Amino acid sequence: MYFGFLGQSALYKHLRDLSHLAFPFNCFGCNAALDEDDLPICKECFDHFPRTYYWQQEENGVEKLFWGKIKFVRACSYLFFTKGGIVQDLMHQLKYNSKQEVGHLLGKYFAQDLSASWYSDIDVVVPVPLHASKLKSRGYNQCDSIVSSMAQVMEKSFHLNAVERIRANQSQTRKGRYERWVNVNELFSVSQPHFLAGKHVLLVDDVVTTGSTLEACANAILSLPNTTVSIATIACPSPV
Ligand SMILES: [Zn+2]
Repeated sequence: MYFGFLGQSALYKHLRDLSHLAFPFNCFGCNAALDEDDLPICKECFDHFPRTYYWQQEENGVEKLFWGKIKFVRACSYLFFTKGGIVQDLMHQLKYNSKQEVGHLLGKYFAQDLSASWYSDIDVVVPVPLHASKLKSRGYNQCDSIVSSMAQVMEKSFHLNAVERIRANQSQTRKGRYERWVNVNELFSVSQPHFLAGKHVLLVDDVVTTGSTLEACANAILSLPNTTVSIATIACPSPV
């Protein structure tokens, strides 16, 4: 019996190794081959994630981006984004290589790291939407996987289509300041207000840089009566 069990275990391992040959399982961060198939990111990469810990800080770098621009409850990012670093690579895989698993994974890790007190009064989680033309060409919104995983860990509801992007973003470089403001503030509308009105909405994007897109999207949500907004993104620039 004992040898039989050992044989079965060895056979299982052999089959698993063979399946890895057919579908090599590599770390999403550093591309190293993984021994265990439970983590799509190796322990080394996970342990060295450049976490911001902004969720533990009031007046953090992401909140400062929105000061004086929109009324928000809380704002933070999960990771620092550096050129050529692991976060840039992961974001690229999520956005351009159809690796939605990366979004699911980062959304899960982010929500697990956030203390429950950070999101206890959130009612609903929504993504910054893509314009229909961009959605068609890319095939998916890279924020949807992040949102659904975060909501699952937080045990909150989420709506992927409650907000709509009504215009594709245009180049703003040649516009004056007023035109630029009008341009960015006409980007979004709430298409399903009954899901968000009167709620505390957590608005999620993959990356925040200047914050102008999130600001415009938040403004559309804040136009609903008695509605508040918090902001969470996976990545933000490293502080200088
Ligand atoms: Zn790795």
